[in-house]
Amino acid sequence: MQDVAIPFNKPLLAGQELTYIQQALTQGKLSGNGYFTQQCQGFLQVRYGLPLALLTTSGTAALEMAALLLGIQPGDEVIMPSFTFTSTANAFLLRGARIIFADSLAHHPNLDVAQLALLITPRTRAVVPVHYAGVACDMAPLMQLAQEHGFYVVEDAAQAIESRYQDQALGAVGHLAAFSFHETKNIIAGEGGLLAINDPHFAARAEIIWEKGTNRAAFFRGQVARYQWVDIGSSFLPSELNAAYLWGQLERLEAIQERRQQQWQHYRAGLQTLAAAGYFALPTVPDYAVHNAHIFYLLCRNQAERDGLIRHLAQRQILAVSHYQPLHASPYYQARHDGRPLPHALAHAQRLVRLPLYYELRPADQQRVLNAVQHYYTGQLSV
Ligand SMILES: *Cc1c(COP(=O)(O)O)cnc(C)c1O
Repeated sequence: MQDVAIPFNKPLLAGQELTYIQQALTQGKLSGNGYFTQQCQGFLQVRYGLPLALLTTSGTAALEMAALLLGIQPGDEVIMPSFTFTSTANAFLLRGARIIFADSLAHHPNLDVAQLALLITPRTRAVVPVHYAGVACDMAPLMQLAQEHGFYVVEDAAQAIESRYQDQALGAVGHLAAFSFHETKNIIAGEGGLLAINDPHFAARAEIIWEKGTNRAAFFRGQVARYQWVDIGSSFLPSELNAAYLWGQLERLEAIQERRQQQWQHYRAGLQTLAAAGYFALPTVPDYAVHNAHIFYLLCRNQAERDGLIRHLAQRQILAVSHYQPLHASPYYQARHDGRPLPHALAHAQRLVRLPLYYELRPADQQRVLNAVQHYYTGQLSV
């Protein structure tokens, strides 16, 4: 049989998405904050214990709302890992913040919380931990630092739906948190996101910023006689079409997660022998974290071997990919960075490779990926 290409990701149609989009059309309400938006928000609030959750047009938009809510201003400092997506930084740069990039842990892309104290100054307004691959950052010491120094914590939980830190859902720990439903995440809406407002003192203003600076959300609840322009804001709420798609996914959340967990475990079991032989390191998950099988990655010994592995897989029609270029070393930011070397962020950029992982990845195809990795390292064809 001819080997067909194995993509890195394939967006899922989980069940009733198209029915719900049709239903939104029939009901004649396509703009935001309608039935499906309320369904999604209510479900996620209850499931994760979020005092308030607002759907947004993207994870990026949720981060931008967070920066607005915190009142970030020029001169404020915001600390975040260098090994992350541009949106984590852009959201705060747009408000004039100075971004202070922190290094990753040696053995994991997540922020090294133990090193954080060295970066905190009286100007530190926020820290943005990124839960890479849905694996929790060490939140207890971070929240402790936040309390001592009086800064806010905004979780970048874009990759972290269904993940946990100890007994709390990720996204429920920081003062604010951003999730993403981009088509590459576990649960998707095409483009979409969610802002969790865990510190209740941000709740009223969050709804206003979300609704273009108006108190329309309060008006819909019958709390004010008419809605007016009361603050700054923007268009952060997604269309009901996206919310309808998302609702179809959320209904299938547990089945989607169960399949991804099986696939993730299968990769790990299949690669254990090669890892034990020292060819690469497998992902580590600390005791305090329950991850969500968002990404399965290997940490190769060096960049040349990693690039060789990606090529070897590509020749076999398997798309495996590296991940972030550290933001402190990016064309946009390198001249703005304060010059501190961030060796672990760089090492992860050079050594990390992500393997195909998506709901519809068939067992035979996953076996092809495992065999191709085995072949690259040992010259032997099958595991
Ligand atoms: C996906 C992602 C984002 C951005 O989310 P969008 O919905 O694509 O805007 C931000 N941060 C991290 C860590 C992400 O993985």
